[in-house]
Amino acid sequence: MHELAIAENILRNVLKFRDENSITTVEAINIKIGVLQQVSSESLLFSLETLTKGTELEGARFNLEKVDAAIECNACGKKSILRDYLFRCPACGKSDVKVIAGRELFIDSIEIPDETDDGKDECPMLNVQ
Ligand SMILES: [Zn+2]
Repeated sequence: MHELAIAENILRNVLKFRDENSITTVEAINIKIGVLQQVSSESLLFSLETLTKGTELEGARFNLEKVDAAIECNACGKKSILRDYLFRCPACGKSDVKVIAGRELFIDSIEIPDETDDGKDECPMLNVQ
């Protein structure tokens, strides 16, 4: 059910953005999901497609992209990509680290048909949490 609530939230934001910018067709919605989010991509995609069936957003593509988690060491300040959920600094070995990326979930951009010939129109990041 978690994914369904997220999907509803994403679609609400997409529709709001579309209305505010007088966009008629949304081609694709690019979504980034931090790996620390307890979200199943398949389940989220299924929810998005189910919710848009028969609506104005039917047929839009949903691109889900996983974002690596990163940690920063409180002892030596080194930033690194979190591997295998090992919350430990690879530089000094201390486990006094904080998560600096990987918990995000946002709409990275929305693609609309190219009518102006200046490339894809994309919307700025929308946090959907
Ligand atoms: Zn360290």
